[in-house]
Amino acid sequence: MAAERRPIEVAPARDVPLNAAERRASLNVNKTAGRMETLMTDRPPAPDASLLDDLVAANRVLYAKGIVDGLGHISVRHDKDPSMYLLAAERAPALVTRDDIAVYDLDSNPLTLKERRGYIERYIHGEIYKARPDVMSVIHCHTPSLVTFCVCQVPLKPLYHMSGFLGAGVGRFEARETFGMTDMLISSPAMGRELAKSLGKRAVVLMRGHGATMAGASIKHAVFRAIYAALNATMQMDAMRLGDVTYLSDEEATKATATNDKVVDRSWALWKAEAAGEI
Ligand SMILES: [Zn+2]
Repeated sequence: MAAERRPIEVAPARDVPLNAAERRASLNVNKTAGRMETLMTDRPPAPDASLLDDLVAANRVLYAKGIVDGLGHISVRHDKDPSMYLLAAERAPALVTRDDIAVYDLDSNPLTLKERRGYIERYIHGEIYKARPDVMSVIHCHTPSLVTFCVCQVPLKPLYHMSGFLGAGVGRFEARETFGMTDMLISSPAMGRELAKSLGKRAVVLMRGHGATMAGASIKHAVFRAIYAALNATMQMDAMRLGDVTYLSDEEATKATATNDKVVDRSWALWKAEAAGEI
């Protein structure tokens, strides 16, 4: 359940002059009220409540599944305006509530919760939404099994039907090529654009020395891809230690993806209940 915002308290009118402490308190109240007024008059459309709930749930699912830890994030395109997206303001994913969800434009400027600090790497989301009209949800993570594949040339390939979405290949992003020596983070629109180019039309892009980003047609599809990309990476490392590996063919991968996309609701319901502590 999302925490209720506390209403702004305004002192009752009175005739006697305010002392210094009261004047300062009064100014603070007026500043807060003004900020609220700005938000009220220049406010993006309210997203559907169920979309917000799913985004909050997805943050918790990704933590419960070991995809994100204190860092990493998931966004969803705004259901009322495709030129906006929803992403939590800076907070560890497992702690995100409805009140932490901000609306951003596709240049990754906050349109709500402007007083909060945003994730440094929010440009990943905005630039992928710009480049890919088909994408409705984006996840960025530093999952260990995926990072292992980021730093070697072995391709991440679909080992079984659950990861058929890898059959289209995986993008690779090398920050050094365009940006030289960096702290590895996608901290500017230009870096976000290059990352979106590396993703191309694929579901996943691996980022050397950093992590991975995945895109999907909805929150649950993106979460499904994050979970099974990470599992596939772990199993592929095991299988390669055992010997030659037979991967899904392109046709098998395409057919498996089409089937999985239709039954994702079953897994999504389970993951949400699990992350909510209901089972
Ligand atoms: Zn990152």
